[in-house]
Amino acid sequence: MRALTIVEPGVLELGEVEDPTPGADEVVVEVGACGVCGTDLHLIDGESPLASYPLVPGHEFSGVVVARGNAVEGPALGQRIAVDPNTHCGACRFCRSGRANLCTRYSAVGVTGPGAFAEFVKARAANAYFVSDALSAEQAAMIEPLSCAVLGVRQVGEVLGRHTLVVGAGTMGLLIGQLLAAMGASEVAIVDPLSPRLEVATALGLGPCASSTEELDALFEVVVDATGVPKAVEAAFDAVDRGGTLLVFGVADVKARVGLSPFRIFNDEITVKGSMAVLNSFGTAVRLMEAGQVNVLPLLGAPFPLEEYNDALTAMRSGTGRGIKTQIAP
Ligand SMILES: [Zn+2]
Ligand SMILES: [Zn+2]
Repeated sequence: MRALTIVEPGVLELGEVEDPTPGADEVVVEVGACGVCGTDLHLIDGESPLASYPLVPGHEFSGVVVARGNAVEGPALGQRIAVDPNTHCGACRFCRSGRANLCTRYSAVGVTGPGAFAEFVKARAANAYFVSDALSAEQAAMIEPLSCAVLGVRQVGEVLGRHTLVVGAGTMGLLIGQLLAAMGASEVAIVDPLSPRLEVATALGLGPCASSTEELDALFEVVVDATGVPKAVEAAFDAVDRGGTLLVFGVADVKARVGLSPFRIFNDEITVKGSMAVLNSFGTAVRLMEAGQVNVLPLLGAPFPLEEYNDALTAMRSGTGRGIKTQIAP
């Protein structure tokens, strides 16, 4: 089969590799669509401590089951699925205390093992979720990022009737904004320096929209940083109202540092939280997508074929692709 391999950091190669064969409890999926994520760029740049090379990246995927191990009872051959790429050991202290997303022996399709920038990928059958024919392969490939957003909004607690702000109107910001609105926030303000993204935010019913937090000139009970950019995290913190919460959702560089006011954390009782990947949130994301409670169509452009991976990566890095979310359809 054809696959895109990171031979070593910075070196990509599109070529023939051996077809995956399923282990007893695994399925092989013919990939329909796979999102390009910031994590993939970190893997290509050699900035992920989890990766070992050579590696085929790609963890935000959907497709059709084409082979099954002999212990698999479901899904059936031909079933359309989305896959939770994360697996956990079940035995470390985090797994045993209900926080498996913090597992010390965490592994993931496309991060620690072969991923879905390929014609076929294998995954644990237990991680497969059925998707209906009503969803396109591209929509179904958005379930994984949505499941991360679901965990994120669970971290901020009660939202009903609150004033909320999302910093960054990229894929994750627009998913989180829609979830905050669905959870009953009275206001979901959103800021981004790129006006085409704010147009999408407006079309999704989010707002007020602004190019910066200074322009909004207001304080919010819940603020989410969906950029991972240190300056944006600082601006997000400064926009938190007394008693409010900042969720640091965007993936920053490992070595990045930010300046926060410890006096404000003390005096204004501000909570700063994180949210890592997926935890009991994948099934919720499937339902939200199937029910149309989250609309991803305005975020999507036509996917790039695998051969045009360079164009896809350039689009992802520049933030000026065919859609807000860049996807590859192998
Ligand atoms: Zn991702
Ligand atoms: Zn574990």
